Amino acid sequence: MIKRYISIFVFAAFVVNAVAMPCAASSESARQPNQNTSAGNDKTVESARKSLLDTFTERRALYENIGTMTGIPWYNLAAIDQYERTLSFAHPKTRPLRDGLIAIYMNEVKWVGLMNPDHEDTKPRSIAYFDGFGRDGDGDGKADRNNDADVLYSVAHFLLQYGTSSSDFNIGLWEYYENSRSVERINQFARIYGKYGTLDLHRHAFPLPLGGDYSFRSTWGASRSYGGYRIHEGTDLFAHYGMPVRSTCFGVIEVMGWNRYGGWRVGIRDLNNVYHYYAHLSGFNKNFREGDIVEPGTVVGWVGSSGYGRPGTQGKFPPHLHYGLYRDNGLTEWSFDPYPHLRKWEREERKRRKRK
Ligand SMILES: [Zn+2]
Repeated sequence: MIKRYISIFVFAAFVVNAVAMPCAASSESARQPNQNTSAGNDKTVESARKSLLDTFTERRALYENIGTMTGIPWYNLAAIDQYERTLSFAHPKTRPLRDGLIAIYMNEVKWVGLMNPDHEDTKPRSIAYFDGFGRDGDGDGKADRNNDADVLYSVAHFLLQYGTSSSDFNIGLWEYYENSRSVERINQFARIYGKYGTLDLHRHAFPLPLGGDYSFRSTWGASRSYGGYRIHEGTDLFAHYGMPVRSTCFGVIEVMGWNRYGGWRVGIRDLNNVYHYYAHLSGFNKNFREGDIVEPGTVVGWVGSSGYGRPGTQGKFPPHLHYGLYRDNGLTEWSFDPYPHLRKWEREERKRRKRK
């Protein structure tokens, strides 16, 4: 029973926050299978999915609204909001997730202005006088830090000072974050949202074709010999040469080329600011290049044994796909164990197939 409550709780948290860590958050519940209540679990999954879609609909309406007011395309606003969500997940202590539809975070001082003696100030005129960011986005005469429309409009208002073209947008982003990684991420997210025209882009696929002859186990943290002491930051999936390697997520190809350790490798950035790393490939899908957008199941290359030497080096170890996951917190990146996610995506994909 306790387990079920935990699952429901995790799902609820997952839905409310939809969706900075779909893999991590939802795998918590998936890691605790309960055969006796699988029908009940299916229902929970279904209702979680439904409220997630409702959240996306409401959020989208807000982006469109503020977009109409400011002339900033909805997908650019969506990208900023989603980027902020990933930052809040990476820095839960210093950036608590707002209790609302959107995740854009400004502390009180930023909102009301540095010298403003009233930290709860909601009067647009005095906030503007003290150079605060807070603005009134929903026309109720208040600039309320707890109001989604006000928060989103305030950011949009700041960006508009720099103009309305896409390069102006980037200048505004740089001025807002003072970090070129932030500008890059928001651009990547905006392109993904723009291409698919929806916020519902958090499905995953398993990196190898289901039913293929592959095997993998948890190899996180094992030591390895090449290139000095480095722990094994990923999962090795052993398979035959030439087995297709597929994107596990909606994302942008950030890297495609040779690396001394990884051989021919592909790096894909997803909407959770997670970098998916596929190494030791025998070759790439020539239809794609850096900057292209992929989706779950898109074939990006083929299993091989490249790496551990000069470009083209092969066969220093049995063929396998090395799959790694790295989270960006806005300043640095760190790896986390892909194994539980791989198991979960494999299970989910199998389920989806059965349904079809
Ligand atoms: Zn490996």
